[in-house]
Amino acid sequence: MSTDTDIVIAGGGMVGGTLAALIASQCPGNPPRIRVIEPFPFDASKHHDNPSFDQRSTALALSAMHVLSQAKLWRDVEKRACVIDSIHVSDRGHFGSMLMRADEEQLPALGYVVENRFLGQAIMAGQQQWPGVQWQTGKVSAAQVGRDHVTLEVDGSTLTTRLLVVADGARSALREQLGVRVEHTDYEQMAVIANIAIEKPHEGRAFERFTDQGPMAMLPLPDAEGWHRSALVWTLPPEEAASVLAMPDEAFLEKLQQRFGHRLGRLLKVGERASYPLSRSHACEQVRPRVAIVGNAAHALHPVAGQGFNLALRDAAVLAECIAQAWRDGDPGSLPALQAYLDAQLADQYRTADFSEGITRIFTMRHPLASRLRGIGLLALDVLPILKKHFVRETTGIGRHHPEWKMRSQKPKGKSA
Ligand SMILES: Cc1cc2nc3c(=O)[nH]c(=O)nc-3n(C[C@H](O)[C@H](O)[C@H](O)COP(=O)(O)OP(=O)(O)OC[C@H]3O[C@@H](n4cnc5c(N)ncnc54)[C@H](O)[C@@H]3O)c2cc1C
Repeated sequence: MSTDTDIVIAGGGMVGGTLAALIASQCPGNPPRIRVIEPFPFDASKHHDNPSFDQRSTALALSAMHVLSQAKLWRDVEKRACVIDSIHVSDRGHFGSMLMRADEEQLPALGYVVENRFLGQAIMAGQQQWPGVQWQTGKVSAAQVGRDHVTLEVDGSTLTTRLLVVADGARSALREQLGVRVEHTDYEQMAVIANIAIEKPHEGRAFERFTDQGPMAMLPLPDAEGWHRSALVWTLPPEEAASVLAMPDEAFLEKLQQRFGHRLGRLLKVGERASYPLSRSHACEQVRPRVAIVGNAAHALHPVAGQGFNLALRDAAVLAECIAQAWRDGDPGSLPALQAYLDAQLADQYRTADFSEGITRIFTMRHPLASRLRGIGLLALDVLPILKKHFVRETTGIGRHHPEWKMRSQKPKGKSA
Protein backbone atom coordinates (compact mmCIF):
# COMPACT_ATOMS: atom_id res chain seq x y z
CA MET A 1 0.00 0.00 0.00
CA SER A 2 1.21 3.57 -0.60
CA THR A 3 1.66 5.61 2.57
CA ASP A 4 1.95 9.37 3.24
CA THR A 5 5.53 8.89 4.35
CA ASP A 6 8.06 6.10 4.94
CA ILE A 7 9.26 6.84 8.47
CA VAL A 8 7.68 8.96 11.21
CA ILE A 9 9.77 9.95 14.23
CA ALA A 10 7.37 11.09 16.95
CA GLY A 11 9.41 13.57 19.01
CA GLY A 12 12.02 15.98 17.66
CA GLY A 13 14.11 16.22 20.82
CA MET A 14 17.79 15.39 21.19
CA VAL A 15 17.35 11.77 20.15
CA GLY A 16 14.57 11.98 17.54
CA GLY A 17 16.24 14.91 15.80
CA THR A 18 19.61 13.17 15.61
CA LEU A 19 18.09 9.87 14.48
CA ALA A 20 16.45 11.57 11.48
CA ALA A 21 19.84 12.86 10.33
CA LEU A 22 21.49 9.49 10.97
CA ILE A 23 18.98 7.54 8.87
CA ALA A 24 19.28 10.06 6.04
CA SER A 25 23.09 9.87 6.24
CA GLN A 26 22.89 6.09 5.75
CA CYS A 27 20.82 6.38 2.56
CA PRO A 28 22.68 8.74 0.20
CA GLY A 29 21.09 8.98 -3.24
CA ASN A 30 17.85 7.25 -2.33
CA PRO A 31 16.68 8.56 1.05
CA PRO A 32 13.36 7.46 2.58
CA ARG A 33 10.76 10.15 3.32
CA ILE A 34 11.31 10.87 7.02
CA ARG A 35 8.81 13.01 8.91
CA VAL A 36 9.80 14.28 12.37
CA ILE A 37 6.68 15.31 14.27
CA GLU A 38 7.30 17.62 17.22
CA PRO A 39 4.83 19.83 19.16
CA PHE A 40 7.30 22.73 19.32
CA PRO A 41 7.81 24.58 16.01
CA PHE A 42 10.89 23.80 13.97
CA ASP A 43 12.86 27.01 14.18
CA ALA A 44 16.59 27.00 14.88
CA SER A 45 16.27 30.40 16.56
CA LYS A 46 13.47 29.18 18.87
CA HIS A 47 14.97 25.79 19.71
CA HIS A 48 14.86 26.66 23.43
CA ASP A 49 11.03 26.38 23.47
CA ASN A 50 11.53 22.62 23.18
CA PRO A 51 11.98 21.03 26.65
CA SER A 52 14.71 18.76 25.28
CA PHE A 53 16.88 21.83 24.64
CA ASP A 54 16.46 23.59 27.98
CA GLN A 55 19.06 25.13 30.29
CA ARG A 56 20.80 21.80 31.05
CA SER A 57 24.23 20.92 29.73
CA THR A 58 25.16 17.50 28.40
CA ALA A 59 28.44 15.66 28.77
CA LEU A 60 29.12 13.97 25.45
CA ALA A 61 31.27 10.85 25.39
CA LEU A 62 33.71 10.13 22.56
CA SER A 63 31.21 7.67 21.10
CA ALA A 64 28.73 10.58 20.85
CA MET A 65 31.26 12.64 18.93
CA HIS A 66 31.58 9.87 16.34
CA VAL A 67 27.80 9.47 16.01
CA LEU A 68 27.20 13.23 15.72
CA SER A 69 29.95 13.42 13.09
CA GLN A 70 28.22 10.73 11.09
CA ALA A 71 25.00 12.80 11.24
CA LYS A 72 27.06 15.83 10.11
CA LEU A 73 26.10 17.67 13.29
CA TRP A 74 29.39 17.52 15.16
CA ARG A 75 31.01 20.52 13.50
CA ASP A 76 28.32 22.86 14.86
CA VAL A 77 28.21 21.17 18.26
CA GLU A 78 31.99 21.32 18.60
CA LYS A 79 31.99 25.10 18.11
CA ARG A 80 30.06 25.45 21.36
CA ALA A 81 31.56 22.52 23.27
CA CYS A 82 34.22 22.42 25.95
CA VAL A 83 36.76 19.58 25.99
CA ILE A 84 36.95 17.41 29.12
CA ASP A 85 40.66 16.79 29.63
CA SER A 86 40.42 15.19 33.04
CA ILE A 87 37.83 13.88 35.50
CA HIS A 88 38.47 14.03 39.21
CA VAL A 89 36.36 11.61 41.26
CA SER A 90 36.24 11.97 45.04
CA ASP A 91 34.18 11.06 48.09
CA ARG A 92 33.41 14.13 50.21
CA GLY A 93 34.86 13.89 53.71
CA HIS A 94 36.72 10.61 53.06
CA PHE A 95 40.16 9.66 51.83
CA GLY A 96 40.83 8.40 48.31
CA SER A 97 40.26 10.01 44.96
CA MET A 98 40.85 9.16 41.35
CA LEU A 99 42.04 11.27 38.44
CA MET A 100 41.35 10.18 34.86
CA ARG A 101 43.34 12.06 32.26
CA ALA A 102 42.85 12.01 28.50
CA ASP A 103 46.58 12.23 27.76
CA GLU A 104 47.33 9.26 30.07
CA GLU A 105 44.79 7.22 28.16
CA GLN A 106 46.11 8.42 24.76
CA LEU A 107 42.71 9.91 23.99
CA PRO A 108 41.99 13.28 22.37
CA ALA A 109 39.55 14.04 25.19
CA LEU A 110 37.57 12.18 27.82
CA GLY A 111 34.46 13.87 26.45
CA TYR A 112 32.89 17.23 25.72
CA VAL A 113 30.29 19.39 27.45
CA VAL A 114 27.73 21.39 25.52
CA GLU A 115 24.74 23.41 26.67
CA ASN A 116 21.52 21.74 25.51
CA ARG A 117 20.30 24.93 23.82
CA PHE A 118 23.34 24.84 21.51
CA LEU A 119 22.87 21.14 20.92
CA GLY A 120 19.28 21.96 19.89
CA GLN A 121 20.46 24.73 17.60
CA ALA A 122 22.96 22.39 15.91
CA ILE A 123 20.45 19.55 15.52
CA MET A 124 17.82 21.82 14.01
CA ALA A 125 20.15 23.76 11.73
CA GLY A 126 21.73 20.45 10.62
CA GLN A 127 18.42 19.03 9.30
CA GLN A 128 18.47 21.37 6.30
CA GLN A 129 21.25 19.34 4.69
CA TRP A 130 19.16 16.12 4.48
CA PRO A 131 16.69 16.26 1.56
CA GLY A 132 14.42 13.41 2.72
CA VAL A 133 13.85 14.86 6.19
CA GLN A 134 10.77 16.97 6.83
CA TRP A 135 9.68 18.48 10.17
CA GLN A 136 6.02 18.86 11.07
CA THR A 137 4.71 20.80 14.03
CA GLY A 138 2.18 18.65 15.83
CA LYS A 139 1.51 16.09 18.50
CA VAL A 140 1.09 12.41 17.73
CA SER A 141 -1.81 11.34 19.94
CA ALA A 142 -2.53 7.80 18.76
CA ALA A 143 -1.05 5.01 16.65
CA GLN A 144 -2.85 2.05 15.05
CA VAL A 145 -0.38 -0.57 13.90
CA GLY A 146 -1.52 -2.58 10.87
CA ARG A 147 0.18 -5.35 8.89
CA ASP A 148 1.85 -3.14 6.30
CA HIS A 149 1.50 0.38 7.72
CA VAL A 150 0.87 2.46 10.85
CA THR A 151 -1.93 5.03 11.00
CA LEU A 152 -1.20 8.01 13.23
CA GLU A 153 -3.43 10.69 14.61
CA VAL A 154 -1.72 14.08 14.52
CA ASP A 155 -3.71 17.06 15.78
CA GLY A 156 -7.00 15.63 14.49
CA SER A 157 -5.64 14.48 11.10
CA THR A 158 -4.47 11.02 10.08
CA LEU A 159 -1.14 10.14 8.58
CA THR A 160 0.14 6.78 7.35
CA THR A 161 3.70 5.52 7.54
CA ARG A 162 5.60 2.26 7.15
CA LEU A 163 7.65 2.73 10.31
CA LEU A 164 6.90 4.64 13.53
CA VAL A 165 9.82 5.56 15.79
CA VAL A 166 8.61 6.63 19.23
CA ALA A 167 10.97 9.32 20.63
CA ASP A 168 8.60 11.33 22.82
CA GLY A 169 10.63 11.24 26.04
CA ALA A 170 10.59 9.58 29.44
CA ARG A 171 6.88 10.03 30.05
CA SER A 172 6.06 8.74 26.58
CA ALA A 173 2.29 8.84 26.05
CA LEU A 174 2.68 6.89 22.81
CA ARG A 175 4.54 4.07 24.53
CA GLU A 176 1.68 3.84 27.01
CA GLN A 177 -0.92 3.98 24.27
CA LEU A 178 0.84 1.05 22.57
CA GLY A 179 0.59 -0.88 25.86
CA VAL A 180 4.35 -1.33 26.33
CA ARG A 181 5.31 -2.40 29.86
CA VAL A 182 8.02 -0.34 31.59
CA GLU A 183 10.29 -1.37 34.46
CA HIS A 184 10.66 1.69 36.64
CA THR A 185 12.73 2.53 39.73
CA ASP A 186 12.19 5.89 41.38
CA TYR A 187 15.49 7.02 42.95
CA GLU A 188 13.58 9.48 45.17
CA GLN A 189 16.17 12.08 44.33
CA MET A 190 16.20 15.28 42.29
CA ALA A 191 18.96 16.70 40.14
CA VAL A 192 19.39 20.45 40.64
CA ILE A 193 21.16 22.02 37.69
CA ALA A 194 22.61 25.50 37.09
CA ASN A 195 25.55 27.16 35.40
CA ILE A 196 28.07 28.48 37.92
CA ALA A 197 30.60 31.28 37.39
CA ILE A 198 33.87 30.23 39.01
CA GLU A 199 36.94 32.12 40.13
CA LYS A 200 39.66 29.90 38.62
CA PRO A 201 39.73 28.58 35.04
CA HIS A 202 38.65 24.93 35.08
CA GLU A 203 41.37 23.89 32.58
CA GLY A 204 39.11 21.23 31.13
CA ARG A 205 38.60 19.52 34.49
CA ALA A 206 35.31 17.82 35.34
CA PHE A 207 34.62 16.98 38.97
CA GLU A 208 32.49 14.13 40.20
CA ARG A 209 32.06 14.43 43.93
CA PHE A 210 30.10 11.92 46.00
CA THR A 211 28.46 13.27 49.13
CA ASP A 212 26.31 11.75 51.85
CA GLN A 213 23.21 13.18 50.09
CA GLY A 214 24.08 12.11 46.57
CA PRO A 215 26.58 12.78 43.80
CA MET A 216 27.48 16.23 42.52
CA ALA A 217 29.14 17.01 39.18
CA MET A 218 30.79 20.21 37.97
CA LEU A 219 31.39 20.02 34.24
CA PRO A 220 33.61 22.46 32.33
CA LEU A 221 31.87 24.96 30.03
CA PRO A 222 33.36 27.46 27.60
CA ASP A 223 33.92 30.93 29.10
CA ALA A 224 31.09 33.39 28.42
CA GLU A 225 30.88 37.15 28.87
CA GLY A 226 34.22 37.15 30.65
CA TRP A 227 33.24 34.49 33.19
CA HIS A 228 34.86 31.09 33.70
CA ARG A 229 31.98 28.63 34.01
CA SER A 230 31.09 25.10 35.07
CA ALA A 231 27.75 23.29 34.78
CA LEU A 232 26.46 21.93 38.06
CA VAL A 233 24.42 18.73 38.43
CA TRP A 234 23.65 18.32 42.14
CA THR A 235 21.72 15.26 43.25
CA LEU A 236 19.70 15.75 46.42
CA PRO A 237 16.74 14.29 48.29
CA PRO A 238 13.53 16.07 47.11
CA GLU A 239 13.08 18.22 50.23
CA GLU A 240 16.72 19.37 50.13
CA ALA A 241 16.41 20.12 46.42
CA ALA A 242 13.32 22.25 47.05
CA SER A 243 15.19 24.09 49.78
CA VAL A 244 18.29 24.90 47.66
CA LEU A 245 16.08 25.93 44.72
CA ALA A 246 14.28 28.43 46.93
CA MET A 247 17.47 29.96 48.40
CA PRO A 248 18.67 33.43 47.40
CA ASP A 249 21.73 33.26 45.12
CA GLU A 250 24.28 34.08 47.85
CA ALA A 251 22.96 31.40 50.22
CA PHE A 252 22.86 28.87 47.39
CA LEU A 253 26.47 29.61 46.40
CA GLU A 254 27.61 29.42 50.02
CA LYS A 255 25.99 26.02 50.52
CA LEU A 256 27.38 24.76 47.22
CA GLN A 257 30.86 26.01 48.08
CA GLN A 258 30.67 24.19 51.39
CA ARG A 259 29.69 20.92 49.69
CA PHE A 260 31.97 21.20 46.67
CA GLY A 261 35.06 22.80 48.19
CA HIS A 262 37.54 25.24 46.62
CA ARG A 263 39.02 23.28 43.71
CA LEU A 264 37.65 25.88 41.29
CA GLY A 265 38.26 28.80 43.64
CA ARG A 266 35.32 30.85 44.84
CA LEU A 267 31.92 30.19 43.30
CA LEU A 268 30.90 33.65 42.12
CA LYS A 269 27.54 33.58 40.41
CA VAL A 270 24.70 31.17 39.72
CA GLY A 271 22.51 31.14 36.58
CA GLU A 272 18.93 29.94 36.31
CA ARG A 273 18.28 26.88 38.49
CA ALA A 274 16.02 23.95 37.60
CA SER A 275 15.37 20.48 38.98
CA TYR A 276 14.56 17.07 37.51
CA PRO A 277 13.19 13.95 39.25
CA LEU A 278 15.54 10.99 38.87
CA SER A 279 14.49 7.49 37.97
CA ARG A 280 15.62 4.49 35.99
CA SER A 281 13.24 3.05 33.46
CA HIS A 282 13.44 0.44 30.77
CA ALA A 283 10.77 -0.33 28.18
CA CYS A 284 10.40 -4.11 28.14
CA GLU A 285 9.41 -4.17 24.48
CA GLN A 286 11.34 -1.72 22.31
CA VAL A 287 10.59 -3.13 18.87
CA ARG A 288 7.49 -4.54 17.19
CA PRO A 289 6.66 -4.94 13.53
CA ARG A 290 6.65 -1.31 12.24
CA VAL A 291 7.48 0.25 15.63
CA ALA A 292 10.72 1.11 17.45
CA ILE A 293 11.01 2.98 20.75
CA VAL A 294 14.16 5.06 21.36
CA GLY A 295 15.79 7.60 23.68
CA ASN A 296 14.24 8.33 27.05
CA ALA A 297 11.04 6.62 25.92
CA ALA A 298 13.10 3.38 25.76
CA HIS A 299 15.34 3.92 28.78
CA ALA A 300 16.10 6.63 31.31
CA LEU A 301 19.15 6.50 33.60
CA HIS A 302 20.56 8.23 36.64
CA PRO A 303 22.45 11.23 35.19
CA VAL A 304 25.41 10.85 37.58
CA ALA A 305 27.71 9.40 34.95
CA GLY A 306 26.25 11.50 32.09
CA GLN A 307 25.31 8.46 30.03
CA GLY A 308 21.63 8.76 28.98
CA PHE A 309 22.03 10.68 25.75
CA ASN A 310 25.33 8.98 24.96
CA LEU A 311 23.70 5.57 25.17
CA ALA A 312 20.70 6.78 23.16
CA LEU A 313 23.06 7.99 20.42
CA ARG A 314 24.82 4.62 20.25
CA ASP A 315 21.36 3.03 19.94
CA ALA A 316 20.37 5.55 17.27
CA ALA A 317 23.49 4.87 15.19
CA VAL A 318 22.86 1.12 15.13
CA LEU A 319 19.12 1.56 14.55
CA ALA A 320 19.81 3.90 11.63
CA GLU A 321 22.07 1.26 10.03
CA CYS A 322 19.41 -1.43 10.42
CA ILE A 323 16.59 0.78 9.10
CA ALA A 324 18.71 1.87 6.12
CA GLN A 325 19.43 -1.74 5.22
CA ALA A 326 15.73 -2.59 5.58
CA TRP A 327 14.84 0.41 3.38
CA ARG A 328 17.22 -0.82 0.68
CA ASP A 329 15.65 -4.29 1.02
CA GLY A 330 12.19 -2.77 0.46
CA ASP A 331 10.54 -2.32 3.89
CA PRO A 332 11.89 0.03 6.60
CA GLY A 333 9.43 -1.33 9.17
CA SER A 334 10.42 -4.98 8.91
CA LEU A 335 10.69 -6.71 12.28
CA PRO A 336 13.89 -8.70 11.58
CA ALA A 337 15.72 -5.41 10.93
CA LEU A 338 14.36 -3.76 14.08
CA GLN A 339 15.08 -6.89 16.11
CA ALA A 340 18.66 -6.97 14.79
CA TYR A 341 19.09 -3.45 16.18
CA LEU A 342 17.78 -4.42 19.60
CA ASP A 343 19.84 -7.62 19.73
CA ALA A 344 22.95 -5.53 19.04
CA GLN A 345 22.20 -2.85 21.66
CA LEU A 346 20.40 -4.51 24.57
CA ALA A 347 23.58 -5.52 26.40
CA ASP A 348 24.92 -1.95 26.10
CA GLN A 349 21.63 -0.61 27.50
CA TYR A 350 21.72 -2.84 30.58
CA ARG A 351 25.43 -2.41 31.15
CA THR A 352 25.27 1.39 30.96
CA ALA A 353 22.23 1.62 33.26
CA ASP A 354 23.84 -0.79 35.75
CA PHE A 355 27.09 1.19 35.70
CA SER A 356 25.28 4.51 36.34
CA GLU A 357 23.16 3.03 39.11
CA GLY A 358 26.04 1.04 40.61
CA ILE A 359 28.30 4.00 41.23
CA THR A 360 25.44 5.97 42.79
CA ARG A 361 24.58 3.14 45.16
CA ILE A 362 28.18 2.47 46.15
CA PHE A 363 28.84 6.10 46.91
CA THR A 364 25.67 6.74 48.88
CA MET A 365 26.25 3.84 51.33
CA ARG A 366 27.01 5.60 54.60
CA HIS A 367 28.33 2.69 56.66
CA PRO A 368 31.88 3.54 57.93
CA LEU A 369 33.19 0.30 56.41
CA ALA A 370 31.62 1.23 53.09
CA SER A 371 33.35 4.60 53.02
CA ARG A 372 36.70 2.94 53.83
CA LEU A 373 36.19 0.45 50.99
CA ARG A 374 35.23 3.30 48.67
CA GLY A 375 38.43 5.12 49.55
CA ILE A 376 40.44 1.99 48.83
CA GLY A 377 38.45 1.50 45.62
CA LEU A 378 39.19 5.02 44.41
CA LEU A 379 42.87 4.62 45.27
CA ALA A 380 42.93 1.28 43.46
CA LEU A 381 41.26 2.80 40.42
CA ASP A 382 43.81 5.58 40.51
CA VAL A 383 46.86 3.35 40.67
CA LEU A 384 45.84 0.19 38.80
CA PRO A 385 45.94 0.91 35.06
CA ILE A 386 43.67 -2.01 34.08
CA LEU A 387 40.91 -0.98 36.49
CA LYS A 388 41.24 2.60 35.43
CA LYS A 389 41.10 1.73 31.74
CA HIS A 390 37.86 -0.17 32.40
CA PHE A 391 36.38 2.88 34.14
CA VAL A 392 37.50 5.14 31.28
CA ARG A 393 35.94 2.80 28.72
CA GLU A 394 32.62 2.90 30.59
CA THR A 395 32.55 6.68 30.90
CA THR A 396 33.70 7.50 27.38
CA GLY A 397 31.64 4.83 25.63
CA ILE A 398 34.66 3.77 23.60
CA GLY A 399 35.11 0.17 22.55
CA ARG A 400 31.37 -0.48 22.39
CA HIS A 401 30.16 -2.67 19.53
CA HIS A 402 30.88 -0.25 16.71
CA PRO A 403 34.41 -0.12 15.25
CA GLU A 404 34.17 3.68 14.92
CA TRP A 405 33.82 4.03 18.70
CA LYS A 406 36.96 2.13 19.51
CA MET A 407 39.87 4.13 20.85
CA ARG A 408 41.33 6.46 18.29
CA SER A 409 44.27 8.70 18.76
CA GLN A 410 43.30 12.03 17.36
CA LYS A 411 44.71 15.40 18.21
CA PRO A 412 42.46 17.60 20.33
CA LYS A 413 41.34 20.77 18.61
CA GLY A 414 41.69 23.07 21.63
CA LYS A 415 40.09 23.29 25.01
CA SER A 416 36.98 25.22 24.10
CA ALA A 417 35.58 27.37 21.41
C1 LIG B 1 19.69 16.65 34.97
C2 LIG B 1 20.03 15.77 33.81
C3 LIG B 1 21.32 15.79 33.30
C4 LIG B 1 21.66 14.97 32.23
N1 LIG B 1 22.94 14.98 31.79
C5 LIG B 1 23.32 14.14 30.80
C6 LIG B 1 24.67 14.11 30.35
O1 LIG B 1 25.52 14.86 30.83
N2 LIG B 1 24.99 13.24 29.35
C7 LIG B 1 24.07 12.40 28.79
O2 LIG B 1 24.44 11.60 27.92
N3 LIG B 1 22.79 12.42 29.19
C8 LIG B 1 22.38 13.26 30.17
N4 LIG B 1 21.07 13.30 30.56
C9 LIG B 1 20.09 12.47 29.84
C10 LIG B 1 19.54 13.17 28.58
O3 LIG B 1 19.05 14.44 28.92
C11 LIG B 1 18.44 12.32 27.94
O4 LIG B 1 19.00 11.09 27.58
C12 LIG B 1 17.85 12.99 26.70
O5 LIG B 1 17.24 14.21 27.03
C13 LIG B 1 16.80 12.10 26.05
O6 LIG B 1 16.33 12.76 24.90
P1 LIG B 1 14.98 12.31 24.18
O7 LIG B 1 15.01 13.02 22.85
O8 LIG B 1 14.83 10.83 24.19
O9 LIG B 1 13.79 12.85 25.10
P2 LIG B 1 13.33 14.32 25.38
O10 LIG B 1 14.50 15.20 25.53
O11 LIG B 1 12.36 14.26 26.52
O12 LIG B 1 12.55 14.76 24.05
C14 LIG B 1 11.27 14.25 23.74
C15 LIG B 1 10.67 15.11 22.64
O13 LIG B 1 9.39 14.57 22.28
C16 LIG B 1 8.45 15.63 22.13
N5 LIG B 1 7.10 15.04 22.34
C17 LIG B 1 6.52 14.75 23.53
N6 LIG B 1 5.31 14.19 23.31
C18 LIG B 1 5.12 14.12 21.95
C19 LIG B 1 4.08 13.64 21.10
N7 LIG B 1 2.96 13.12 21.60
N8 LIG B 1 4.24 13.73 19.76
C20 LIG B 1 5.38 14.25 19.23
N9 LIG B 1 6.40 14.72 20.00
C21 LIG B 1 6.28 14.65 21.34
C22 LIG B 1 8.90 16.66 23.15
O14 LIG B 1 8.43 17.96 22.86
C23 LIG B 1 10.42 16.58 23.05
O15 LIG B 1 10.93 17.40 22.05
C24 LIG B 1 20.70 14.11 31.63
C25 LIG B 1 19.39 14.10 32.13
C26 LIG B 1 19.06 14.92 33.21
C27 LIG B 1 17.65 14.88 33.74
